[in-house]
Amino acid sequence: MYPDKKKLSLGQIGLCDVQQLLSVIILQQKSMADTRFYVKVFEADYSAIERINLQLVALQTQYQKGQACQEPAHTDLDSGSCLDKQVAIKQLIDAKLVAIPGCQRLILNQGRCLIDLYLGDIHSSLSNTVAPAYQASYIHAWLHTSDQHSLDEQTLWQMAKLSSNAAMLSSLYMSQQQVNLAQVAGFTLTDISSTDASLKDCLLDARAAEKTSPSPASAQLNDEISQQERQALRQAQANGFQHYPQLPAKEGEIAVIGGGIASTHLALSLAERNKSVRLFCQDEAFSQQASGNKQGAIYPLLTPDNGTLSQYFQQGLLFTRRRLTTLIDEGFNIANELCGVLHTGHDERSRGRINRIISAQAWPKEIAHRVSAQEASNLASIDIDQEGVFYPLGGWISPPDFTQAAFDKASQIADVSALFNCNITRIEQSQGQWYLYQNADAHSKNGSVNEVKHGPFSTLVLANGRGLTQFEQSKLLPATGFRGQVSHIPARNELAKLTTVLCSHGYLTPSNDQLHCTGASYVKDPEHLDYCPNEQLDNLKKMQHSFENKAWVDDIDITGHSARVGVRMVTRDHAPMLGCAPDTHVMLENYQLHQHTKASIKFWKDNPAPIHHGLFILGGLGSRGITTGPLAAEALASQLCGEIIPLDMATLALLNPNRMWMRKLIKGKAL
Ligand SMILES: Cc1cc2nc3c(=O)[nH]c(=O)nc-3n(C[C@H](O)[C@H](O)[C@H](O)COP(=O)(O)OP(=O)(O)OC[C@H]3O[C@@H](n4cnc5c(N)ncnc54)[C@H](O)[C@@H]3O)c2cc1C
Repeated sequence: MYPDKKKLSLGQIGLCDVQQLLSVIILQQKSMADTRFYVKVFEADYSAIERINLQLVALQTQYQKGQACQEPAHTDLDSGSCLDKQVAIKQLIDAKLVAIPGCQRLILNQGRCLIDLYLGDIHSSLSNTVAPAYQASYIHAWLHTSDQHSLDEQTLWQMAKLSSNAAMLSSLYMSQQQVNLAQVAGFTLTDISSTDASLKDCLLDARAAEKTSPSPASAQLNDEISQQERQALRQAQANGFQHYPQLPAKEGEIAVIGGGIASTHLALSLAERNKSVRLFCQDEAFSQQASGNKQGAIYPLLTPDNGTLSQYFQQGLLFTRRRLTTLIDEGFNIANELCGVLHTGHDERSRGRINRIISAQAWPKEIAHRVSAQEASNLASIDIDQEGVFYPLGGWISPPDFTQAAFDKASQIADVSALFNCNITRIEQSQGQWYLYQNADAHSKNGSVNEVKHGPFSTLVLANGRGLTQFEQSKLLPATGFRGQVSHIPARNELAKLTTVLCSHGYLTPSNDQLHCTGASYVKDPEHLDYCPNEQLDNLKKMQHSFENKAWVDDIDITGHSARVGVRMVTRDHAPMLGCAPDTHVMLENYQLHQHTKASIKFWKDNPAPIHHGLFILGGLGSRGITTGPLAAEALASQLCGEIIPLDMATLALLNPNRMWMRKLIKGKAL
């Protein structure tokens, strides 16, 4: 198990040089193994990513040739061994940095070094980041690395909002006026006398300052006005966002109902924060429900405007890939192929839509790019002969392997356990603690049901897939079950040559263990989950329709009647749900008194949204849960632990479980 970890948070304005990131990764690994690093880098220039990626490849080549190790030490990076440096470089290369807007999270050094890379206007990125709930998560030191990003007064105050009282700021590029403004915002300016200023030095200074800094009370006395202004800024942000509450968990064990991707990845993210987690799963093993398919495709759902959901999908895809590659590097067996996904239209309408998406934005090539009919065939290694869009970072993953690996890893590093065959039928809060009730098989003599009670837990998370709405407290959450049958197709003839995931009117995967997957049907509120021959036929027809007159389609043989049926919980806006569980009962009661008027808008905006304290939701992952679930789990873990959540306010609003009501209420619209 990891030792109880301390936290150290560092902010950097400008993604200057990759050596800085590498030195921090090595420092954490080699010298501060008991400390969890949070590094937040804000960069406005999207082309910085390409520069960093080129630097990484060049460095890797040098180290592979042994040249870099022979050079005399002259940078921070040289303080690690040759192997340390190569490991750090490989971690960053494998993490695949891509120039997408918003925050992308990298989890390195076995979960002990988190790097959040925020791309886009720096002031907006800072102001759209919610200040953490716990002081321990404030940023301890800032490094301003580039004269390209001038620190104006507003930006300095937004940095201050996220900073601890004793936070330091190091910069070579500030005018005297900016220095004065930074001091007014409460920063301690540290001397940088050379251009060797590094993140590593800042971290070491910050650690020293933490040890020697005066108590919070006396620090406040020293700098009362700036601290009050910082607090006012945080309060103003919290007040303006209280209709989408972001409360943390209380101390204590965390109970999670679930046994699929969502719950096990939440357990992993919490384990990395040294939390104790108890999973309650109604089945005899993990992945018996939606997360049980043989193969799940991962790729982004893009929209022409690249709006909030589209951005979340890209962040989610990168996070899922990073989790996957890290778990595999750590020795876990997860069947997968990151072979890309080829998206083609199946009629005029869908072709038009794909065309609009790809034309509307300058997507990074790794996210999506247009391919000709010939290129499509080359990528697939079978005759496609249609132009389309290729998502190079996509592919397929075995959801059961991914689920199991997340849990195994979590239980290796922290106190995480699972109770199987444990169907929770009722949850109840008493004196601030949550209790879970499981129906026992036997009935008592007087005919009442015997219940086994689990608890108390200060925090309970519902991550139970299609069961999300089964409890009194969650029954009104707007998510609906859609049955899906995935057909298993023997690999044979031309079809067996398929080398990328095809996505059209349905999807088709390259084979794994001699089977392809194709599907899936989409049936609302299913009456049963039995195999359905009609849906098997429909899955075949979708492929025939998508790839007319292609000889390889004749190789799709459904006569073996092999298939798997699952249910996805789908929200109306197709976004997952994560965050505090809304108290819909109180919300609807209040709605009777406050609706349709300016005063009602004010009421909903000015009062904290009603929630069930200590109860949280991670669900509604829909048809793309493998792509979006792990990041949703990581974001919820950050919230529960009072950290800076790696999603901006627009995304947090989009994913909040109360959004279907609150969006209307704060506009004075009828529910
Ligand atoms: C047919 C189909 C095809 C799909 N294809 C893809 C794809 O290609 N790409 C992609 O990204 N996503 C895909 N998805 C979606 C993805 O599989 C889901 O979004 C994801 O698996 C949901 O994970 P989950 O953990 O939320 O739910 P689940 O995997 O359903 O897990 C819920 C868990 O909760 C437990 N549980 C429920 N109620 C209780 C209770 N009362 N007490 C105790 N335990 C309980 C269950 O036992 C189960 O273990 C597909 C889904 C389906 C159904």
